[in-house]
Amino acid sequence: MRAIDIIRRKRDGHTLTRAEIAAFVRGATDGSWADYQLAAMLMAICCRGMDAGERAALTAEMVNSGQRLDLSDIPGPKVDKHSTGGVGDKTSLILAPLAAACGVRVPMASGRGLGHSGGTLDKLESIPGFRVNLSVEEIKYALRTVGAALISQTREVAPADRVLYALRDVTGTVESIPLITASILSKKIAEGISGLVMDVKTGKGAFMAARDEARELARALVEVGNANGVHTEAVITDMNAPLGRAVGNAAEVVESIEVMRGERPGPLEDLSVHLAARMVRLAGLASTLEEAEKKVRAALSSGRGLEKFRDILVNQGGDPTVIDNPARLPRATHRHIVRASRRGHVRGIHAGHVGRGSMLLGAGRNRADEAIDPAVAVLLHVALGHPVSPGDALCELHYNDPSRLAAALELIEAAFEIHEEPPGTVPTSLILETLG
Ligand code: URA
Repeated sequence: MRAIDIIRRKRDGHTLTRAEIAAFVRGATDGSWADYQLAAMLMAICCRGMDAGERAALTAEMVNSGQRLDLSDIPGPKVDKHSTGGVGDKTSLILAPLAAACGVRVPMASGRGLGHSGGTLDKLESIPGFRVNLSVEEIKYALRTVGAALISQTREVAPADRVLYALRDVTGTVESIPLITASILSKKIAEGISGLVMDVKTGKGAFMAARDEARELARALVEVGNANGVHTEAVITDMNAPLGRAVGNAAEVVESIEVMRGERPGPLEDLSVHLAARMVRLAGLASTLEEAEKKVRAALSSGRGLEKFRDILVNQGGDPTVIDNPARLPRATHRHIVRASRRGHVRGIHAGHVGRGSMLLGAGRNRADEAIDPAVAVLLHVALGHPVSPGDALCELHYNDPSRLAAALELIEAAFEIHEEPPGTVPTSLILETLG
């Protein structure tokens, strides 16, 4: 089967066979297809799309390109949550301990931040000593004893995705529902999970800015996850404004701890509880979502979630004293307050601008091999609907490199939309739709 014939068939809009899809994925994994052939194929998929059968086959072949974690000797259902990426999204740090405190085994492999969206691994690594590179034996030990392992993907998981993602990044082929679906799910399915909750973000700080695209992605994720034996649900959530008040790695750890202490009720806590409750129900530990939410709320209010977070830190080498003394986390040397220049009401806080601004200050990276500064943060002082007067603080920037401030400020100042008129009702829930 020649690469050129398979590329031509997709270019002309045909449905590929399982064998053709397998040849393409093998070509990416063993190098038998040249990069230009892989890139041409990616573009053909991007332009022509794939039907449900092709998407499921592409995902399965990408799982088979590497190793699959065998967790069959760990008792109980293993359930994970994954987000398509947002700004200030620290729900994983909160819900993994909450779900584990309710009895779910959570093997959570996460990524690093890229572009304006943050990554769970970067947040965790701002905790002194925390190790994300666990061996298979260490992951199993964590799941058996603590109930959760917060880890990076090993090099053996879905190697075809690493090759294809790097090519997509530079060939304008990231924005494709079949390619995104196969990329995300191949890595999740290889974790050996039985259930998955997908948080599909939509809005100004999301990958899928338009709601109908987010819905299409959510549908594909649910369909392909289930077709590959992982019970998958998707929740479409609002990512127009940053999630919570902190954007930046160490600052997001602090905010997560505050939520787990019960000190920050609001949309971030509610979304974390909702997603954890879906995990509890998928694990079969509650028969309805209401019952699952009650269990998760009890874990939160009793402090069991926070204690579970402490256990996770201890097990993975992280300094647990940061929980009682967040000043032990990296702190920046400079502060700048962004102030309102006019009277009015906060109508919008553009998540994309805040994310890119924090990245310019050093919180994120443009290329996968760039270093980040864990102490950089944007701390919001206002939320949607708040009234402001000239001179009121809108947010606070924490940074170490003053030469980065001007460019970041331009974006962050532009993020705040202030109107004379108060907004109508400000929605209290970030959850827009659920599927699966
Ligand atoms: N995250 C992934 O892992 N892959 C994609 O294609 C997009 C987001």
